[in-house]
Amino acid sequence: MAKSEAEHAPAGRPLVGILGGTFDPIHYGHLRMAEELADILSLDTVRFIPAATPPHRQQPGTIAAHRAAMVGLAVAGNPRFIMDERELHRDGVSYTIDTIISLREELGKETAICLIMGSDAFVRLDTWHRWSELLDYCHLVLVQRPNMASLQENLPVALQAVLQDHATPDPSTLRSSSAGRISVQQIAALDISATAIREDLLNRHSPRYLLPDSVIDYIHCHRLYR
Ligand code: ATP
Repeated sequence: MAKSEAEHAPAGRPLVGILGGTFDPIHYGHLRMAEELADILSLDTVRFIPAATPPHRQQPGTIAAHRAAMVGLAVAGNPRFIMDERELHRDGVSYTIDTIISLREELGKETAICLIMGSDAFVRLDTWHRWSELLDYCHLVLVQRPNMASLQENLPVALQAVLQDHATPDPSTLRSSSAGRISVQQIAALDISATAIREDLLNRHSPRYLLPDSVIDYIHCHRLYR
């Protein structure tokens, strides 16, 4: 277990949040979601895991080293947040199932692992590599993203069934097992996306207050998104 996880774990089973993404770039939508969920669910830590080569989408325009550096800057100073570069050190496509299995091996069978995802990611979960095995290794924590696919409507039948079978109304039950439950959480909706930030930067509009100043400085310093 990483040192900071041990330091912050309250008595009982440790509860670790995982937020994977392209983070191209990381923004306050990601950071507020992680902070709120850490409070609501009493997560001991949240690991931010940038994807090197995401399988489900167009490849990011920004190299993984820059995206990871921006995540590092954004999480610096938050004792509950951890930058986790495991996908950058693995060859090939960054499948989430491989990441979760490697975390399970590292954190041990007792730790409750909570894979956090926005509704836009969950509605496509049934297209992910070995998606149906994920709940064997972790819980899922879902949040509705503003103006994006809804968790209530147009959910593929297979995902409706998974939600029905695994959803728990009581978030405290996430600590009573290490995997297998789904918790849907309401958080303050921040309609921020990396796509919109990249467009702002391309159009020479200020992205200020959408992402940390340290990340904006990095973007300007490395002439990204021009
Ligand atoms: P892009 O616009 O390039 O698709 P993004 O802003 O959606 O990027 P990702 O790195 O793809 O960011 O997102 C990683 C995870 O964070 C996904 O599960 C996504 O649903 C979630 N997420 C991103 N932005 C928000 C937000 N504003 N509120 C809640 N969840 C978010």
